[in-house]
Amino acid sequence: MIYMDHSATSPVDPKVFEAMKPYFTNEFGNASTLYSLGRNAKNAMESARQEVATIIGADPKEIIFTSGGTESDNIAILGTARKLKNKGNHIITSDIEHPAVEETCKYLEKNGYKITYLPVYKEGIVRVKDLEDAITDETILITIMHANNEIGTIQPIAEIGKIANERGIYFHTDAVQTVGKIPVNVIEMNVDMLSLSSHKLYGPKGIGALYIKKGVRIEPLMYGGGHERGFRPGTENIPGIVGLGKACSIANQNIEDNARKLTNLRNKLIDAVLEQNKDSYLNGHRTKRLPNNANFRFDAIEGESLILHLDFKGIAASTGSACSSTKLEASHVLLAIGLEKEEAHGSLRISLGIENTEEDIDYAITAIKEVVEKLRKMSPLWCGTI
Ligand SMILES: *Cc1c(COP(=O)(O)O)cnc(C)c1O
Repeated sequence: MIYMDHSATSPVDPKVFEAMKPYFTNEFGNASTLYSLGRNAKNAMESARQEVATIIGADPKEIIFTSGGTESDNIAILGTARKLKNKGNHIITSDIEHPAVEETCKYLEKNGYKITYLPVYKEGIVRVKDLEDAITDETILITIMHANNEIGTIQPIAEIGKIANERGIYFHTDAVQTVGKIPVNVIEMNVDMLSLSSHKLYGPKGIGALYIKKGVRIEPLMYGGGHERGFRPGTENIPGIVGLGKACSIANQNIEDNARKLTNLRNKLIDAVLEQNKDSYLNGHRTKRLPNNANFRFDAIEGESLILHLDFKGIAASTGSACSSTKLEASHVLLAIGLEKEEAHGSLRISLGIENTEEDIDYAITAIKEVVEKLRKMSPLWCGTI
């Protein structure tokens, strides 16, 4: 099988798995205990915290381990809303957030908060002017993702952060799709909070982190033994934390080379697919996108059939996000960039990973062409020639 769905999840790097192993067996200590077994766990956790901090240019004291991107997003948004409810009730986000942000904002909307969803226009990118216009005296939080998980577009985070800073508004970004893929630096990006997740960067599932800048005050969502500065009580998932740390350190060493390699593969794929398939289009911005993301749209094709036929040919790809592809609803991201429902349903997301080769790309180009031709021959919607 050729795996091309890395925005959904990535395989665990064997070096990451090796690093985790001892913490399931001999080194099983509780990091809160005082004897050497516990201290070993604590030390492993603190080196992992350093590695996570390094990949985003933060101080280790600013890193909280969580169960993943979803939890990090929830703590940042709900934690701010609860802490600042007497200061204001307005939150600004975008139309194309991951459900972990989108649904959290909708929950707040049902509970008395006002949410502004910024448009992203045809190319899937928010405009700073719209953000400036949306800010009111009541605005307590801006939460806008770094890169989108479906169409890969990268937002002008540093500019947004600068405005948020000047206005004294907390700024959170969901950087789950970018950490480990492109350089991320919390200082340069002017962010107060940033979410990341291990399983999108060749680490294990069920572990992630939230960066909370020194001085930023939010409420915890859970109460207990005071772990993770009180933000995330509960005995720490040491094997997961060690895995995340190792994944960050590996990704950080190779970030430029990997980004270059993936960009070349992605460009080859995009150029060939658009050239070889009539009435095919690229969703999202041509260059302001993740190095590993290509999202296509084919007239008169149904995305689900495309995925299943590619699966027969040994390729794992996706329609919208993994979460929406089981719902059979049109992706809110594709609708937000102005596609009609039918157009959104004819979309294909390919997200490459570092183990993909040039041969994989050649194979995918041919497979996509064959499947598109086959489906169009069967499609009542298709009137053109192939
Ligand atoms: C995958 C993903 C999440 C959720 O992360 P989990 O660790 O699976 O909870 C959040 N945001 C984005 C952009 C994602 O791609």
